[in-house]
Amino acid sequence: MELEQFDFVVVGAGVSGLSFANWAREEASRLGRASPTILVVEREREPGGYCRTVKRHGFTWDFAGHFFHFRHADIEAWLRARMSGAVRTVERSARVRTAPVPGSQAVEVDYPFQRHLQQLDQIGFIACLADLYQASKHTEATPPASFKEMLTRRFGAAMCERFLTPYNEKLYACDLDTLEVDAMGRFFPHASLDEVLAGLTTPAGERAGYNATFQYPEGGAAEFVRALVRDLPERTLALDEQVQHIDLERRVVTTSQRKIRYGQLVTSAPLPATLTACGLEHDQAAFTSNRVLVFNLGFDKKGRKDVHWIYVADPARIFYRVGFYDNIVPASRMSLYVEVGLPAGSERPDVGVLQQRVLADLAAEGIVQPGQKLVAHHHVVMNPAYVHLTARSVAEAARARADLERHGVYSVGRYGGWTYCAIEDNLVETRALAARLLATNQ
Ligand SMILES: Cc1cc2nc3c(=O)[nH]c(=O)nc-3n(C[C@H](O)[C@H](O)[C@H](O)COP(=O)(O)OP(=O)(O)OC[C@H]3O[C@@H](n4cnc5c(N)ncnc54)[C@H](O)[C@@H]3O)c2cc1C
Repeated sequence: MELEQFDFVVVGAGVSGLSFANWAREEASRLGRASPTILVVEREREPGGYCRTVKRHGFTWDFAGHFFHFRHADIEAWLRARMSGAVRTVERSARVRTAPVPGSQAVEVDYPFQRHLQQLDQIGFIACLADLYQASKHTEATPPASFKEMLTRRFGAAMCERFLTPYNEKLYACDLDTLEVDAMGRFFPHASLDEVLAGLTTPAGERAGYNATFQYPEGGAAEFVRALVRDLPERTLALDEQVQHIDLERRVVTTSQRKIRYGQLVTSAPLPATLTACGLEHDQAAFTSNRVLVFNLGFDKKGRKDVHWIYVADPARIFYRVGFYDNIVPASRMSLYVEVGLPAGSERPDVGVLQQRVLADLAAEGIVQPGQKLVAHHHVVMNPAYVHLTARSVAEAARARADLERHGVYSVGRYGGWTYCAIEDNLVETRALAARLLATNQ
């Protein structure tokens, strides 16, 4: 039997896969050519990947706290032109709860921590400044060998023990010495001694940094995905269908339902899974990551009103971040997301036990008050969530992606690229890829 054939088969209907499908059509139209034939194959029953929203008992929750910063005005305008619901522009109110250290209490300060040291207790403030000053004097001959060493060398011990180290250890669920110096890329809020000192006399609003405001659709993060689906012709999406095998020689994918021939394959599946599906040898051990277990929790009454999310460094608390949806899209009942970093692995977390622990820790932190009752909940495990960027993973990802490209397979997106990025990066990357592929496919 003749196999179905498409110019592009796209693996995954997350932001990367869907945006590639849009950009490829737009690029063809710009070049005055017929639209390429595209099939987006998605193993889940709905599109969106990690950018999905659940609605339950009047609460609107995402798969994890998803808030949006656009550096490309044209990308933002393109998305907004395809959205019908309201999008809020919110002035960020984020806090940091430090870890207690001997002689210094745990306190809550504004985010970013590095720029609000004057809000610490006096002992903590002096210790952080003294250590930061010492750190700024050291000029080591060799660059730091790891993320952990970068933190200590750049910020000094006192800032590390109060926030930077315990917080990131909870988030990444690994030894920070195993991570690359630049493990968080542009998402890490660096601050020099001069900037910290300047921050002491700067009004609070001006200390907030580049992403002091963010965008959030009232209907949840999935509104962006709806925008990405809107213009795609019917039958572009094949849901509930998993790509299982990729035959690089014959350019045929085998899914859970059929075989499909492709001209080129664009995949947003995690890179190691793609390499396995292609039968390509690779350094599997280079690709490590954490998992994030997200609890979405709805309560019968409102809680605190002054904050959008809190980073929690105290190792005694199981979560690293707690956010308040009801303060982002104002609502009368407290609606939380709570993020817990877990090491990678296949064993299923005991969600019931962990939810009890989360609720106990929320009460201990005073986030849930005695009169508030949990009325709805949902959870999701994001696996992988934060990839561990190491020298080995960066080199292996570059090598493997180049190898795939030689076979007409383009591995894109947060997990296809095995990187740390946001949805705007996914849109930018796939736009460039569509332009490149259509320019060469005359
Ligand atoms: C905890 C957390 C918080 C985040 N917060 C933000 C934020 O605030 N702002 C922001 O902009 N970004 C945020 N991000 C990043 C954002 O989620 C990603 O950049 C984006 O969702 C990645 O989209 P993607 O399409 O590349 O990958 P994914 O969303 O992972 O999509 C890949 C798709 O491929 C499908 N798939 C995989 N394998 C197969 C297969 N074999 N066959 C068929 N389908 C397959 C999957 O089901 C999935 O739908 C966050 C990420 C995490 C983990």
